[in-house]
Amino acid sequence: MRKNIVAGNWKMNNDLAETSELLTHLKMQLVKEPTAEVYIAPAFTCLSHAFQTLKETPIKVAAQNMHFEKKGAFTGEVSAQMLQSVGVSTVILGHSERRAQFNETNEILAKKVSAAIEADMEVIFCFGEELKERKAGEHFDVVKRQLEEGIFHLSKESWKKVILAYEPVWAIGTGETASPDQAQEVHAFVRETIAGKYDEATANEVSILYGGSVKADNAREIFGKEDVDGGLIGGASLNAIDFLAIVNSF
Ligand code: PGA
Repeated sequence: MRKNIVAGNWKMNNDLAETSELLTHLKMQLVKEPTAEVYIAPAFTCLSHAFQTLKETPIKVAAQNMHFEKKGAFTGEVSAQMLQSVGVSTVILGHSERRAQFNETNEILAKKVSAAIEADMEVIFCFGEELKERKAGEHFDVVKRQLEEGIFHLSKESWKKVILAYEPVWAIGTGETASPDQAQEVHAFVRETIAGKYDEATANEVSILYGGSVKADNAREIFGKEDVDGGLIGGASLNAIDFLAIVNSF
């Protein structure tokens, strides 16, 4: 059985006081046994606080990025070991904002994926096409290339530590969601592609999240699709009531 997962990507939002307040609400209102695994990804500066606050709860804390080197002269960067030292063992890699605004190529992402897996971290690997690629009907090719070049170098064994997140760039923060059928179509394609590269078991066991304008009122329909195992939530994860409504949408 694949895991249902809802992960909140806070992006560059919430300072320490705001983080503290949101965590208090999440802790208070999260049902004891949620039907999904829940993650939140605050800014680096709040990871330690979030981990300490949530360690007795089912909510896991993820980082939004990391560098592939272990340490050294890489001003402004954070390593897997540094994340682990504050209790964080999951990292989001390949978010489209990192790809587009911080020049993270498939090649760089492959190195980050390797570094995270070597450090025994869990990876939430994001991929997805841009609007012009969707309009040109290239989305399957784009997604396939992102997987092949970014993460298909992993051994079959390592896929136990992988969560995928399909995030069509045109749906992120735009209010325009992929339709449940559009999401399902790509998720099924991704599973088929993984089965071709590895095997059916690997393809069937990996959780594939959908991300892009998921809200409390559209989550249930999207998560109801056969190959959609949850969501990576941006905007709606900044409000405890909205986020928990999404968590409870299975
Ligand atoms: P959104 O962001 O939910 O605000 O569209 C999703 C994401 O970027 O992960």
